[in-house]
Amino acid sequence: MSKILAIANQKGGVGKTTTAVNLAASLVATKRRVLLVDLDPQGNATMGSGIDKHDLELSLYDVLTGDSRTASAIQKAQPAGYDVLPGNGDLVAAEVELMELSRKESRLRDALGEVRPDYDYILIDCPPSLNMLTLNALVAAQGVLIPMQCEYYALEGLSALMQTIESLKESLNPKLEIEGLLRTMYDPRNSLTQDVSEQLKEYFGDKVYGTVIPRNVRLAEAPSHGLPALIYDKSSRGAVAYLALAGEMNRRNK
Ligand code: ADP
Ligand code: MG
Repeated sequence: MSKILAIANQKGGVGKTTTAVNLAASLVATKRRVLLVDLDPQGNATMGSGIDKHDLELSLYDVLTGDSRTASAIQKAQPAGYDVLPGNGDLVAAEVELMELSRKESRLRDALGEVRPDYDYILIDCPPSLNMLTLNALVAAQGVLIPMQCEYYALEGLSALMQTIESLKESLNPKLEIEGLLRTMYDPRNSLTQDVSEQLKEYFGDKVYGTVIPRNVRLAEAPSHGLPALIYDKSSRGAVAYLALAGEMNRRNK
């Protein structure tokens, strides 16, 4: 049965989508079956997987609002080889429409239940807010993967997410855990980075991944080609780092 992970941090630009796409490709390279769910109306994970968000016959919107079965909306990211449940701007409407539906926080969990046996990992790329879409991800998931930049106030920025996770553990999703904290755009020469890194380890202990993701221009370029870095430039530092992360994640989930 697959492990469902929400890749979440309500701050934008911390590397959620970059992590979702590159981790998906790297887990496939380690022979895992992966589904990437694009829950962000910006559709960046969809585009970054080589799927045109403007040209979707069916999307996560149709699945969440109940008009379509999950499997029929899934496409393959080629040549990376993971599956994608694509999303686009229609998800803005889904967020509103969900409010009127029954089990509004559990729609994604119900939808993923249909395809769960087909995957080892299901990765959910969350939007940069703690809205009803993100809530759906946190109800569907067993683990939360939190990408973050080691900058001033990074820890304070996490408190709202931590509170949401704690309250979900006491209500809709008792099994929810923090899967890991991932340091992104990491620059070891910066002393602030080191300070924040130490604080993170004090606070979250071994939940902080040993693997760090360096700032690497290939990671920023690859999405414009609709490719993960592992395909775009497999020897780039970014691609190698995400491969290492996949290895660390597989060891943790043995
Ligand atoms: P989020 O999904 O959290 O908003 P993104 O993954 O879209 O963040 O990253 C924000 C921007 O930073 C994007 O332009 C992305 O290409 C770039 N980026 C992310 N991670 C890295 C990295 N490790 N090195 C260089 N650029 C990165
Ligand atoms: Mg994003």
